[in-house]
Amino acid sequence: MFQHKKTIAEGDLVLAYIGRDNLKPITVKSGDVLQTKYGNFPHTDMIGKPFGSQVTSAKNVGFIYLLLPTPELWTISLPHRTQIVYTHDSSYIVQRMNVVGGSRVIEAGTGSGSFTHAFSRTVGPAGRVFSYEFHEQRYLQAKEEFESHKLENVTLTHRDVCNEGFDIDTEIRAQMVFLDLPSPWEAIPHLSRVVAKDQTVGICCFSPCIEQVVKAVEALQDCGWTAIEMTEVQAKKWEARKEMVRELDDAIERLRDVKRRQKEGAELKKLPPKRDADGNEKDRGYNPFGKGRRIAEGDESFQWQNVSKTGPELKTHTSYLLFARLVPVLGAEV
Ligand code: SAM
Repeated sequence: MFQHKKTIAEGDLVLAYIGRDNLKPITVKSGDVLQTKYGNFPHTDMIGKPFGSQVTSAKNVGFIYLLLPTPELWTISLPHRTQIVYTHDSSYIVQRMNVVGGSRVIEAGTGSGSFTHAFSRTVGPAGRVFSYEFHEQRYLQAKEEFESHKLENVTLTHRDVCNEGFDIDTEIRAQMVFLDLPSPWEAIPHLSRVVAKDQTVGICCFSPCIEQVVKAVEALQDCGWTAIEMTEVQAKKWEARKEMVRELDDAIERLRDVKRRQKEGAELKKLPPKRDADGNEKDRGYNPFGKGRRIAEGDESFQWQNVSKTGPELKTHTSYLLFARLVPVLGAEV
């Protein structure tokens, strides 16, 4: 699992938050520089900073945040090798299938490993994730990534589960199954050999089109799965932000500032900007509303209130979530 850490050190994986939909994974290495449209950020300056810090670019023109990797952040920053499962679906699936610390989970296919990271953190050191991928290149990339992210509770197997099933040397005894495959109905008949026999087992098939759902339902029924239900998650984004508390005096000061700038305006624009001894552009005065000094959100010299803001509704269809349960047969051999 991603290890929890307070401060950034050489060799750490850091997620650079450059903008709302722009999160870049970097491995910190002295001498390297992260180049963004907001300026350059030398890795050396990141070392020793607490995770979550805001850092300004070398020429003070922009800033980014240095975030500790979590499965949720990894999902929005990972290198895509396939379509992936996003957090609004994975979090729902995890809670609906009651995946908890110690759970044993089967996942196929691994794809870009987005959901594997979420499963790995949820099941923890006492649990196990058995993940299968038949595409060799994707399998090798996932293997390297899981090793580097220390997902020690994941057993990754290079396998076509539709033709060869799920059996491996270890006893699996899976309590939950997640199938994100083009033809889950071909994999379902192989599951009875590897799921737990002494308790109810949950399954979720993640399929983008209804024809796949229909075929999967038929296979589930044929194999004795019950309580079959289909769900679709329509998510909406909420963001927690800090908003500067603006007093009437600030508004008056702002109007004065606008007037002053208008007066100075044309003449000043023609002159080159004033610079300090280090060559940085000089601050042209305090203005809590934007121009002049840039103020970091949460700057302790100002007053802030916590607010929530909504993003647009998610209009796109991701996939249908098909759930079912396999109840052990009374008196059957365990
Ligand atoms: N859930 C993954 C994630 O969150 O990153 C994405 C899975 S991706 C949509 C589907 C993956 O299943 C592909 O990488 C594909 O190669 C793999 N796959 C398809 N058929 C398979 C099979 N029969 N056995 C194993 N893997 C298979």
